Amino acid sequence: MSAIRKKSAVRKKQNPLRRPAELVAAGLADGERISALQAVAARYAVAVTPAIADLIDRSDPDDPIARQFVPDARELHAEPAERGDPIGDDAFSPVEGIVHRYPDRVLLKLVNACAVYCRFCFRRETVGPGRGALSPRALEGALDYIGANPQIWEVILTGGDPLVLSARRLGEVMRRLAAIDHVKVLRVHTRVPVAAPERMTAALVRALRADDKASFVVLHANHPREMSKGARAACARLIDAGIPVLSQTVLLRGVNDDAETLGALFRALVECRVKPYYLHHADLAPGTAHLRTTIAEGQALMRALRGRVSGLCQPAYVLDIPGGYGKSPIGPNYLSPDGEMVEDFNGRTHRYPPQPDCVRSRER
Ligand code: SF4
Repeated sequence: MSAIRKKSAVRKKQNPLRRPAELVAAGLADGERISALQAVAARYAVAVTPAIADLIDRSDPDDPIARQFVPDARELHAEPAERGDPIGDDAFSPVEGIVHRYPDRVLLKLVNACAVYCRFCFRRETVGPGRGALSPRALEGALDYIGANPQIWEVILTGGDPLVLSARRLGEVMRRLAAIDHVKVLRVHTRVPVAAPERMTAALVRALRADDKASFVVLHANHPREMSKGARAACARLIDAGIPVLSQTVLLRGVNDDAETLGALFRALVECRVKPYYLHHADLAPGTAHLRTTIAEGQALMRALRGRVSGLCQPAYVLDIPGGYGKSPIGPNYLSPDGEMVEDFNGRTHRYPPQPDCVRSRER
C-alpha cells in the first residue's frame, strides 16, 4: 500500500459515524428504523467515534454503550418538564461564552462541538458539528470579563468539549487564563480520553499544563467498559504529567442504573487514579425521559454502594436545579432530622452521641 493510501485509510478509520445510514452499515442500528433515526439526526447531532463503536456489542439490542450514542426515536418526544436549557446557562451568561453562576468560578464555553454526541446531553440544543469555537472577538470579551472580576478563582473550560480544539489553540487559551493573577485553578471538562483517546497526544497534554496554576481534568465516563485500554492510557498520560483527573458520571436508565455497574465503573476509575467526583442526576433535556431514573432510584443506588465499595469510589450524587440555581447534593441522608440518630451502611441506626450505657457496654 502506498504511503498516501495508508494515510487515507488511517484517516477513514478515525472518522466518526455521523449519518444513520453509516450506523446501519456499521451494524450499530437497525435498518428498519432508519427513517426515525434520520428524523432524530436532523434534530440533534450524532457522532460515534471508532473508539466508541469498538466498545459496542452489536449482538446486544440493549447495549449500554449504544444506548448512550446511537439515536433513538424516543428523542423526538419531549416531556412537559423538559427544557432546551435545562441547567439555566443562559440566565447566568453575562457575556458570550461565559456562565457565571457561583461567585468564585465561571464556565468558559470554548467550543460547541464534541468528539461524540451523547443522547442525553444537557446542551443538546446548542452542541453539534460545525457549531465551532468562540470567535476571536467573543473570546477576547470572555477573557476581559474574567480579568475584570477578581473574585473568579477558578475557570472551567467546557463546551462542547474543549479537547476537540488543537493543542496550539487550547494552549494559547490556557496561557492567557494563567496570566490572570486572580485565577488560580483551571479545570477542563472532557469526554475525549474515552471517546477519542488517540487525541490525547503529548502536545495536547502539554497544552493543559498551566505555569504556576493548578490544572485539573474532569473526565465524563458512564460505564466500566468505557475505561478501555486506550482510555486508561490517556488518563495515565495526564496524571503522569502532573494533571489530577476527576470524573463525572451521568446516572442513566439502562446504562448504569444498577449497583454492580456503577461500583465497577467507580472502581475502574480509581484503579486508573481518577477520583469519582460527581454522579449527576440526568438533566431535563428534551427527549431524554427514557434515559432518566427517579431521584429515589439514584438515592437507593448510592445507599447500595456505601460500604460496599471504598470511600475513594464514592462521588457526590447531585442535581443541577432547573433554572440555573446550581448543583445540590441529593443524598441519601444518613442522619435523622433531629441529628440524634445515624444510620450505618448496613441500615442499622445508632444514637449519636451514644448513651452512657452503650459506651460502657462497648468498653467491657
Ligand atoms: S460530551 Fe458533553 S457536551 Fe458533548 S454531547 Fe456529551 S454530554 Fe454533551
